[in-house]
Amino acid sequence: MEKRELVIIGAGPAGLTAAIYGRRSGLDVLIIEKGLPGGQINTTDEIENWPGVQHASGQELGDMFRKHAEKFKPEFREAEVQGIELKEGKKIVVTDKGPIEAAAVLLATGASFRKQGCPGEAEFTGRGVSYCAVCDGAFFEDQEVAVIGGGNTAVEEGVYLTQFASKVYIIHRRDSFRADKVAIERALGDPKVQAIWDSVVEEIRGTEMVETLLLKNVKTGELSELPVSGVFVFIGNEPNVGFLKPLIDSGVLKTARGGWIKVNDRMETSIEGIFAAGDLIEKYLRQVVTATGDGATAAMAAYAYISEQVHLEGKLLEPEEVSVVFYSSVDQAQVRLAGEIEAAPQWNRVVLVDGYKNSRMAEKLQVQSLPCALKIEKGTVTKRFEISSATDLQGL
Ligand code: NAP
Repeated sequence: MEKRELVIIGAGPAGLTAAIYGRRSGLDVLIIEKGLPGGQINTTDEIENWPGVQHASGQELGDMFRKHAEKFKPEFREAEVQGIELKEGKKIVVTDKGPIEAAAVLLATGASFRKQGCPGEAEFTGRGVSYCAVCDGAFFEDQEVAVIGGGNTAVEEGVYLTQFASKVYIIHRRDSFRADKVAIERALGDPKVQAIWDSVVEEIRGTEMVETLLLKNVKTGELSELPVSGVFVFIGNEPNVGFLKPLIDSGVLKTARGGWIKVNDRMETSIEGIFAAGDLIEKYLRQVVTATGDGATAAMAAYAYISEQVHLEGKLLEPEEVSVVFYSSVDQAQVRLAGEIEAAPQWNRVVLVDGYKNSRMAEKLQVQSLPCALKIEKGTVTKRFEISSATDLQGL
């Protein structure tokens, strides 16, 4: 089976940044992408909150990220990841082009637009129902369209649509938008934009193409019809985690409400050696700038994991028999003890491991306090005792 060090699933801002950091650390990096590279960023018309670039389209910024990552020569592969299997501590990324055993995996598949779920939505998708103003806005030149939602996406994309549409209704289920103040002021100050408050779309109707929306006022219960040629659904996002369903359903891969992947501050998921970064994780702010930060952190944590864990596993868990001393590099007395052991010819077969830096391995071998000596036979600890001087090693 193909064996790789870091397999990154997803080539959006998080995945591409991780590829840059991973390659710069000297890792072998395979980045798997499905379809159009760059992720959701491609569907954003205007990005004006990426520091250093005052204005760019999502696609322009995405292209720059891609070119930057290519400079460091990770391998890009177009494939669909069908799942991740965990076998005897190994992580196997199963793709439609074959399985890959990865020392570490980074999940960076992002999020997708949430569907509204009303009758007519699925039927008219691509025939008046859209989730991308940049992609489809130009089809509605001089026509009236509706936007559903009250967040930044709905409000900003609503304004974007005014350059094509003659009128943009923003239909929101409450009586105030949740978007930023600046974005709200821009939208409500635009003569082509009209907010329809306290309303939900009950049905999207038409024959060949969308013709009307059946609206319900949630306060009065009143129903009305709104004639429009298009409807843009911007009601938030969902993580792209379908391929992880067996791991999530079995509780091995922990998620938060809404299905977002739980990670710690090193972007480690609940599965050792599997990291996650970008829009699919549980977080406060889903933005390009935060996704790239996550990607960098994840790559550096994966690098530390691979170099520490994988290297140590080979050294400690695979041999027939090995003698090990775990010590702490932040304790002067223990550093002296390690130096003493290293200098003594009779202990040159003893492997010294900094238990402070390699806490995961120490945990795995149930080392409770440092310094500690272990005898390990084919991955099983057969002797374990605390030491205070090199002479204590006689017991090994
Ligand atoms: P969002 O902030 O989660 O807003 C979703 C909107 O859809 C909310 O107004 C919500 O109503 C409404 N909604 C949810 N489910 C609905 C349903 N079933 N029917 C009708 N309405 C429904 O999502 P977003 O606007 O896509 O933004 C996602 C994240 O990206 C946010 O953190 C946002 O700030 C950020 N973003 C930032 C920028 C920028 O900085 N330029 C641009 C775009 C997005 P309620 O308000 O009643 O909950």
